[in-house]
Amino acid sequence: MLDATPKEIFEREALRINPAKTCQPIGAMYAALGIHNCLPHSHGSQGCCSFHRSHLTRHYREPIIASTSSFTEGAAVFGGGTNIVQSLQTIFTTYDPDIVAISTTCLSETIGDDIPTYISQAYEEGVVPEGKLVIHCNTPSYVGSHITGWSNMTTGMVKYLSTKTENSLQQINVIPGYVEPSDTRQVKQLLKQMGVNFVVFPDTSDVVDTPQTGRYQMYPKGGTTIEQLRSTGDSQATIALGTFASEQAAIALQDKCGVPYRLLELPIGLAASDRFVQTIIELTGATPPAELEDERGRLVDIMTDMLQYTYRKRVAVYGDPDQVVALTEFLVSCGMHPVYVITGSPAGKRFEERVKEILKDTVPNAVVKADTDLFYLHQLIKNEPVDLLIGNEYGKYIARAEDIPIVRFGFPILDRIGHSYFPTVGYQGGIYLLCNILNTILERLDRDSADETFELVR
Ligand code: SF4
Repeated sequence: MLDATPKEIFEREALRINPAKTCQPIGAMYAALGIHNCLPHSHGSQGCCSFHRSHLTRHYREPIIASTSSFTEGAAVFGGGTNIVQSLQTIFTTYDPDIVAISTTCLSETIGDDIPTYISQAYEEGVVPEGKLVIHCNTPSYVGSHITGWSNMTTGMVKYLSTKTENSLQQINVIPGYVEPSDTRQVKQLLKQMGVNFVVFPDTSDVVDTPQTGRYQMYPKGGTTIEQLRSTGDSQATIALGTFASEQAAIALQDKCGVPYRLLELPIGLAASDRFVQTIIELTGATPPAELEDERGRLVDIMTDMLQYTYRKRVAVYGDPDQVVALTEFLVSCGMHPVYVITGSPAGKRFEERVKEILKDTVPNAVVKADTDLFYLHQLIKNEPVDLLIGNEYGKYIARAEDIPIVRFGFPILDRIGHSYFPTVGYQGGIYLLCNILNTILERLDRDSADETFELVR
C-alpha cells in the first residue's frame, strides 16, 4: 500500500501524512472515563463525538459512553449555549451520572464558546441537580494531540475538584499518564505491595476493561471517585508519570493546594521502574517487599538471558512522547539500537533533548524528531532499514511495505487484543513487553532461517 513512498526526503511544514497522533478530545474523553460515575460530554457536532467514541471502543473493545451537544448549522452560527444547557438537562434526567466532564471540539473552539459561562447558566437554571457536578476543559484539536487533551482534562479535574482542607492526609497522588487500564492497575498493585495510601487519577481500570457479567452497567465500578479527587488537595505529594501527559495537572495541584510534585518518566523498563519505586520510598518511607524484588529479578533475568537476540538490533520507535521516551531507555538497556525515534505530538525540544540524552552513548546518530509523521519514518526506513518497528497499529503499513516485524505498543491498537489486559509499566509490565519484543524477533528468525539453521531450541 505504501510502495509509492519516495526515498528522497523534503522538508515539509504544512503537511502531515499518516500522523503519529490523534485528536485532542479523544484524550480528554479517555481521561474523563477515569472518574467514577462520569459521563464524558463532547461539545460539538455528532460526528466528532462518534469518531472519539468509536476510536476508543475499537481500541478497548468495550462500549464507550459519551454524550454530545449535537451542533447543527444554527449552533455553528449563534453559539452552542442552548445546546449545552439542553444536553445537561437530558443527561441528568435520563442518564443520571454523578458528574459530567465536558470537552470541546474544533468547531466550538473556533466560534469561541465560553463553557464556564454556560456551566454557570446551567447551575443557575437548576439544570444540574443538587450534589451533581459539571467540569470542563478546552480541547481544540488543531493544536496538540490526544495527549494534550488527556492532560487538559486531568488538569480540569484538579481545577474543579481538588480541595485543600485542614486535614493533611498520609497519602500520595499518582497521575499515571496516558496509559492502558492494565498499566493503571499495575501502578496501583505496586503501591499496594509497598503498603502506601494513594489516589491514582484518572483511573480507567475497571471502566474500559470490565469483566463480562451478562449485565450492562452504564457506569462500571472503576474510576477515581469524586471524594478521592477532592482529597488530592490534602495529599503529601504527587508523582506525575510522564512529562507531556501528567506534569500540567501536577503543577496545577501544587499551585492550587500546595501539594509538591515529583516528575518521573513512565515506569517502562528496569531503570524507570526503579526510579518510581525509589521515589515512593523517599516520599513515604515504605519498604519494597520481597515479592517486588523477585519481580525485578525476573525482569533482569530475561534481559540478560536473551541479550544475544536483542543486542544491536536496529529499531524504529514511534508514538506518544512519554511512552516513546521511556521505551527508548528500556530498549537501550536491553542492548538494542533505537535509530529512529519519533512522535507525532508537538512535544518539542524537551522530547528531542531527552531522547538524545538517552541515546548519546549508544546511538549518537539516531534521528529523533517530535511533531512529525509516519510518512517521514517510512522514508527514513527506506533509506536505511531497521530490524524491528515498535509503535501503534498504524505502523503496520510500513511493516508490510518493507517486510519488517512490528511490535504493537501504544495507542491506538485496533487490530490486536491484549494491550488493555497486559501492562507494560513496572517490572511485571517490563517482562510482558520484553517477551513480546523477543517473541517477535524469534518468530522472524524462524521464518528467515534456512533448513540447516532452523533450530528447535533458541
Ligand atoms: S473536527 Fe476536530 S474535534 Fe472533531 S473529530 Fe475532527 S479533529 Fe477531532
